[in-house]
Amino acid sequence: MPLLELKSVSVGYGRNRVLQNVNLTLDRGEIVALLGANGAGKSTLAKSISGLLRNDAGTILLDGEPIEALPPAERLRRGIAHVPEGRQIFAGMTVAENLELGAYAVSEADRAERLEFVWMLFPVLRERMKDLAGNFSGGQQQMLAIARGLMSKPKILLLDEPSLGVAPLLVSEIFHLITALRTQGITILLVEQNARQALSIADRGYVFENGKVTLEGPAVDLLNSPDIAERYLGMGSAAEVSGLASDALAGKLRTVLFPASTEAGG
Ligand code: ATP
Repeated sequence: MPLLELKSVSVGYGRNRVLQNVNLTLDRGEIVALLGANGAGKSTLAKSISGLLRNDAGTILLDGEPIEALPPAERLRRGIAHVPEGRQIFAGMTVAENLELGAYAVSEADRAERLEFVWMLFPVLRERMKDLAGNFSGGQQQMLAIARGLMSKPKILLLDEPSLGVAPLLVSEIFHLITALRTQGITILLVEQNARQALSIADRGYVFENGKVTLEGPAVDLLNSPDIAERYLGMGSAAEVSGLASDALAGKLRTVLFPASTEAGG
């Protein structure tokens, strides 16, 4: 049985249905990447799993039990932690206070154990526990947001664009950290614009296009598939590129999708 399973999930904002008929699974210990252009619906999916948005059709099963009627706090208690896009840490609060907020649903005894876990992963946060979070760099704030998510002792961590607004040097540290979290038994759903780096650490991936899954498979297959560029094309501005020869187009898309490969020369 998958740890998490979405069956025919549809969700939206008011009358605007963003996700339609999404089927997705997350097995224990996996890193699964959600890819797609801006506005494809990836954040909406993360919100529907954590309960910030209610799905209006379909079901979401955690360990085989439906959770779609549960409020976010209960889903958190059951092991789903959401690290939202843009981090949303509290700039006017200290590191320790931000972490405390992440632990509101765990017992006092668990809290101490979680802090030890977080200090082990992020020694710098321990050193700076009394500092205001607002004085941190983008990358450090992202680390703090992930640490806050870990305070709830999650089974599943939903990471929404963890590399956004983070200096390149820290981006690789964040991807390294995500891999380390998996070895700690945490299952990860990773929303990322940075497709190449996400797929390089993921087991599987799903590609979203206009609120639907259009491609899914092992990360290594997606990474090597010439088709993936064309799939992304469907999410970009088709009109803008429709006159180009397909080879040039694929090359252009790869540059956009996988900027790291052009920087690194391969
Ligand atoms: P991004 O990387 O830009 O966040 P995404 O794939 O995560 O892209 P979503 O943020 O899920 O996409 O947005 C999907 C669609 O839902 C978009 O059309 C967006 O305009 C719409 N949308 C997102 N948030 C809201 C909201 N709070 N109210 C209404 N519509 C929204």
